[in-house]
Amino acid sequence: MSNATATINPPAKIAVIGLGNMGRPMAACVARAGYSVIGFDTVAEARTKYSDAGGTSAASAAAAVADVEAVITLLPDGKIVRAAIEGITTQLAPGTVVIDMSSSAPLGTRALGEELIAAGLAFIDAPVSGGVKRANDGSLAIMAGGDAETIDRAEPILRSMGKSVFRTGPLGSGHAAKALNNYVSAAGLAAAVEAVAIGGRFGIDPNILVDVLNASTGRNNSTENKLKQFVIPEQFTSGFSLALMAKDIQTADELAHQIGVATPLADEVAALWNAALDRLGSSADHTEIGRYLTSKQ
Ligand code: NAD
Repeated sequence: MSNATATINPPAKIAVIGLGNMGRPMAACVARAGYSVIGFDTVAEARTKYSDAGGTSAASAAAAVADVEAVITLLPDGKIVRAAIEGITTQLAPGTVVIDMSSSAPLGTRALGEELIAAGLAFIDAPVSGGVKRANDGSLAIMAGGDAETIDRAEPILRSMGKSVFRTGPLGSGHAAKALNNYVSAAGLAAAVEAVAIGGRFGIDPNILVDVLNASTGRNNSTENKLKQFVIPEQFTSGFSLALMAKDIQTADELAHQIGVATPLADEVAALWNAALDRLGSSADHTEIGRYLTSKQ
């Protein structure tokens, strides 16, 4: 039963809704910290993968959230989060903390959070960065938006999944920070892929150019962790889809337009990734932007 002011420590019961590439390892981190974790996913295969790895899952969202002190959502986008939360709101005790760790659109998050808080629940947005690798070892970067008291209550849960927990400001600010991070990350990946393509045409071995970038000022997360690992060997298995990356860039670009900031580069980057999504389809990995850009040469 939820105490509306207390910090949520193990062995409190926590539900994780969404057992995909991120939800499964993140739920496992929370369980390893001593919480009693019940997962749920609408897709039976995702529930089975989670159970096969030692997790406990329920057959419905309503069953997963019985008697929980917190609900974590790790779903594709904010609209899906809203629908999933609206389906279980009446099952949650007053003061239950809802933590949206998906990469959702900030203004939608603010509206949803205000509604849930008015209904007696607590809500924060706490999206993550670091991918499946850092989800597995509990070293994600977490950006938490919302009131300080609620973040305090949820902090031990967040610390079980993340190495750093940034307090970014009011409701929705975590989601804004996350979308802006991914815009910068996506622009850096596209720039690195283009540089390798130009260098290759000029006769520079792609691996050598990546070494040069990594020892020089062109270094970024993609040159360090994506080019040699996924793009150059054409092993597009990063575990983060192109559809989700395109959504994040679109979220950042829409936020800019909604609040009246001119962003010519973000407009271009959003258009590029949306065109890649149209061509490659929703099952593509985001590192396949390399395949898309080089096929245009
Ligand atoms: P995913 O597609 O692998 O998993 C999403 C899961 O949600 C799926 O298993 C799906 O069946 C489930 N689902 C959809 N609707 C549902 C509902 N109503 N109820 C319960 N389950 C439902 O996606 P992911 O890669 O795990 O990403 C999850 C979120 O985290 C996204 O918002 C994404 O942008 C963000 N994210 C992903 C990464 C990454 O590297 N994969 C990194 C940072 C942030």
